[in-house]
Amino acid sequence: NGEVTLRQAHSPAVTRDGVRITVGANASTPAEATAARARGADLISLVRTEFLFLSRDTPPDVDEQEAAYLDLADAFGGERITLRTLDVGGDKPLGYLPMPVEANPFLGVRGLRLGLRRPAILTDQLRAIVRVARQTPVSVMFPMVSTLGELRAARELLDEVVGPRAPVGLRVGIMVEVPAAALKAAVLAPYADFLSIGTNDLTQYTLAAERGNDDVAALGDPFDPAVLQLIRATCDGAAGRAEVAVCGEFAADVRAVPLLVGLGVRELSVTPRSVPDIKQAIRATGLGDSRELAARAREQPCADTVREVLRSRPSSGS
Ligand code: PEP
Ligand code: MG
Repeated sequence: NGEVTLRQAHSPAVTRDGVRITVGANASTPAEATAARARGADLISLVRTEFLFLSRDTPPDVDEQEAAYLDLADAFGGERITLRTLDVGGDKPLGYLPMPVEANPFLGVRGLRLGLRRPAILTDQLRAIVRVARQTPVSVMFPMVSTLGELRAARELLDEVVGPRAPVGLRVGIMVEVPAAALKAAVLAPYADFLSIGTNDLTQYTLAAERGNDDVAALGDPFDPAVLQLIRATCDGAAGRAEVAVCGEFAADVRAVPLLVGLGVRELSVTPRSVPDIKQAIRATGLGDSRELAARAREQPCADTVREVLRSRPSSGS
């Protein structure tokens, strides 16, 4: 029942056969961070820092960003938070950052692409993040990485900001949201401590079906076997090099939990509200069964038959 689920949410989520799966929260405000703590999130695995940059005339300076990130960390009780660098561009323009109009904004200058073109904004943000990382455990995460060159350039900027004395708790990760990044996980992973798969964008780019466009929403289905194969490719490529998380909405679908665990994912990042249910779903999962399930699922011809495979699994209880 709900009360038991909530009480157990403050214990780690371990599969039936003893594999720990980290359950983080996506939280971008102190109120959401407080909710994440109350719901037993192991860490905040995605802070969308865009909220600090939108609807204003000038970018926040380093002091303001430091204060905002510290507020968030405090609201989460000083446990680890994952600050994703600014992920705007094309479809989410900023008044103080004039950008050329693009015919295909989702394929244009967004995420890390924008950060590398406007290094002053990214550098200020990294300065704030590094200051915070000297006070509390912080991970920094770069969005929309497509090539090794981009990741190396981002790490160079970070190294410059860090200087000779790296904060002990600073971890570095990238979002895997572009099929190219999933297929190159083995190349990218040595430059990161973790990879976090953003299934919202990964699905959009894999099926070439724009997020939020109702006319193609049915195509943009994360249960599509092509998306599952890319998640698998990410886990295979990262194995022994970096941990793999999923932070898109797919991670909060209880049906997807055994599938993701079976594909090799070891961290799920969900809205604070979903943390207790996802932890319970993990406890009902066995790694051996999940691997078989995942192998069957990714060989399916379509998303509907993937869902059928998940429904017919002996322990699915439905
Ligand atoms: C994603 O793309 O899955 C993701 C988590 O990032 P956002 O939804 O902010 O694009
Ligand atoms: Mg995204």
